[in-house]
Amino acid sequence: MKTCAIVGINWGDEGKGRMVDLISKDYDVVVRYQGGSNAGHTVINEYGKFALNLIPSGIFRPEVLNILGNGMVIDLEHLCNEIANLQAAGIKISPDNMKISERAIIVFPFHKDLDALEENRLSDRKYGSTKRGIAPAYSDKYEKKGIMTGELLFPEYLKTHLSDVLEWKNLTIQNVYNAKPYTLDDMLLWLNKFGNMLKPYICDTGILLRNAYSSGKRIMFEAQLGALRDIDFGIYPYTSSSTPLAAYAPIGAGVPDIKVDEVIGVVKAYSSCVGEGPFTAEWFGNEAEELRHAGAEYGAATGRPRRVGPFDLVATAYGTKVQGATCIALTKMDVMSYMKNIPVCIGYEIDGKVTTDFPMTPLLLKAKPVMKEMHGWNTDISSARKFSDLPKEAQDYVLFIEKELCCPVKYISVGAQREAMIIRGSNE
Ligand code: GDP
Ligand code: MG
Repeated sequence: MKTCAIVGINWGDEGKGRMVDLISKDYDVVVRYQGGSNAGHTVINEYGKFALNLIPSGIFRPEVLNILGNGMVIDLEHLCNEIANLQAAGIKISPDNMKISERAIIVFPFHKDLDALEENRLSDRKYGSTKRGIAPAYSDKYEKKGIMTGELLFPEYLKTHLSDVLEWKNLTIQNVYNAKPYTLDDMLLWLNKFGNMLKPYICDTGILLRNAYSSGKRIMFEAQLGALRDIDFGIYPYTSSSTPLAAYAPIGAGVPDIKVDEVIGVVKAYSSCVGEGPFTAEWFGNEAEELRHAGAEYGAATGRPRRVGPFDLVATAYGTKVQGATCIALTKMDVMSYMKNIPVCIGYEIDGKVTTDFPMTPLLLKAKPVMKEMHGWNTDISSARKFSDLPKEAQDYVLFIEKELCCPVKYISVGAQREAMIIRGSNE
């Protein structure tokens, strides 16, 4: 297989970062193809523990080229800090092993401000934004008011373009939100401070990728968030502003002409969800607190306690389909070890009728979970490295999920460390 996408099947935070960190050893290039610094991809390896926001999770492998694709929106200040933090931890980052697409859109300080201003205006009707400027930056992109990173290489062009964009943006900042306008000088200073340092990384990454592909190099696409946060197919409007689906990977990476051969859909052994929106199988009270505690479910990017619940087969089967997953990586199996019996959501009851189709938001808000109980294994499985090392109940849980999703579960993780992984078919 030459190309592979590692994608989220659920609401995000499934463990994509750790899967990319592991599997990128067999790849030459890793490309993040959408999203911005709202990502929190946790990687635990010989260098330590990291939560990556913008930088692809292949960065720990010195021989891998990491690309921030054109489908991303990039806060230059955040990226400079992320590079510095990783370098301080001994990770090598230079234009030799990292590139930024010249077509990625810049997230400016005013995007972050607008994000916060709008969430404040919405108050208790808020969408649960991470306030990192992602939605305002994508809105500007599609309104054709975005600034591309490559413009940094053409200062005169950039200055005129930014001046026009600011004139327009300040209308909203002042007249809609009654906030202080941004000056061109301030923004040029900001670009000088953070953009200059990044200039050597910026290039036409499409050419780079296409050449890599035709010379037989293996390319991996890294998604942010999960299928249920997709702008088209997710729980709109409680979605992200981009497309984390594998079908978008070649576009957001810069090579729409290249096909994705393998899609690894990352699924958590239970459900978690950061932010607002319908979450049908959600648990509350003690039950939730116990699971949140067992799974350490606090946002990697924001520290927010994540909403949690049992495995949701309706949402996960839908996510598996829209991602076109060719196999599943089932993560955090070890977290379920404390349960005597394991409840699984197998259907939604909506207006008295049970369905297994994932519905649109107004219906989803009315859905009640239909549950089934599986036998728990109630024993520590964190040292299992082969499928046969798992207790029968844990094997049955995996086989049940596999059957219901009609997709092979190839990877099973039993701990956050790189090596805490069962790879079916390879080491059993
Ligand atoms: P991502 O955004 O999809 O990369 O996932 P996050 O990093 O936001 O969330 C996954 C969390 O689960 C991180 O804290 C990981 O360290 C942790 N994690 C991943 N796999 C496992 C696992 O198999 N067992 C346990 N206990 N934790 C895991
Ligand atoms: Mg995350």
